[in-house]
Order: sequence, then C-alpha cells, then structure tokens
Amino acid sequence: MVSNTSITVHLWTGRSQKIKEPLHVGFANASDETLTAFSKHRGPPLVDMDGEVDVIDSLLCRDWLRMVWRGNKTVEEWPPPRRKITARVDVTQERFEVEPVEVWPTILRLFLRDHSQGKTGFCPNPYCPARYFRKTHKADKSCGLPKCARYLRSLSAHKHWHPADTTGSSAA
Ligand SMILES: [Zn+2]
Repeated sequence: MVSNTSITVHLWTGRSQKIKEPLHVGFANASDETLTAFSKHRGPPLVDMDGEVDVIDSLLCRDWLRMVWRGNKTVEEWPPPRRKITARVDVTQERFEVEPVEVWPTILRLFLRDHSQGKTGFCPNPYCPARYFRKTHKADKSCGLPKCARYLRSLSAHKHWHPADTTGSSAA
C-alpha cells in the first residue's frame, strides 16, 4: 500500500495464501515425511549454498523448536541459528511483495513472540494430529479439537491413579 509518506510491506509467511495455520505452528508439526510438502507450500526453512532446502539443518531447527515449545529446553540453552531475514522483493505498480528466501528466521521470530507471551501450547493427546498449537487464551490446555478436549477430561479424571503419565509420546 503506497501513500505519500509511507509504504506498508506485508512479509509473506507462506507461499499458499489458503493456509491459515501460522507458519511456526505448521513447522513444529511437520514430520520428517511432510517437511518437503511444508517447504513447497510455505517456503524452505533453511537453504544451502545452492539454494536447495537444507534438510538436516531444517530438521535440527524443528527439533530444537519442539523441545523449547514443550518446555524441555529453554530458549537460552541451545540458541539456534538466528539468521537475518533475506527476501526476494518484487515491486509492481500495485503491490510490493516480499518473499523470504528461507522461512526459519521468520518462524523463530513468530515463535519467540508467542513464547514470551505464554501462548505456545502442547496438546496432551498423543493421537492429536497437530500437538504444537498457539493458545487463544493462556489457560488453554489442549489444541481445542473435540477429541483432544475429551482426552484431557479423561486424563484429569484418571490423574489420581496415574500421576506421572501425562505427556505421552513425543511424536507429532
Ligand atoms: Zn490436540
């Protein structure tokens, strides 16, 4: 949007505008198998010297993100690469488009924003299709899917008998 004195720039956080899931949430929930699809639809997390998806470093960053998201590590314990956001810029008469070359720097900033506000949640249901979620309210304890809310209720009902068994598998 161009006015006399300022330009508002919208940073793309995904190539497909149909996807509503926040970028950092999608990345945390991406499995090893779906990382390629994630890279295609949202942009490569990290790229190598040739501009191809750097799969190993991308997975390392995802695993770090998951550990901090679940509270198993703190942000300070293993600082992941804090690269600058580099982007392709395309200017037409109507639009000013900025597409990040790699999306990890954006993911990290979005995550740190939510994490500092206590809005990063981990669904207790081991069968949840997307356990890493963004809380609408700080008190949210599950991702909000009806089956996960039911699981959470059954968990509270049985907590007395199984006090330690609350986390389940760490698989996404
Ligand atoms: Zn869930």
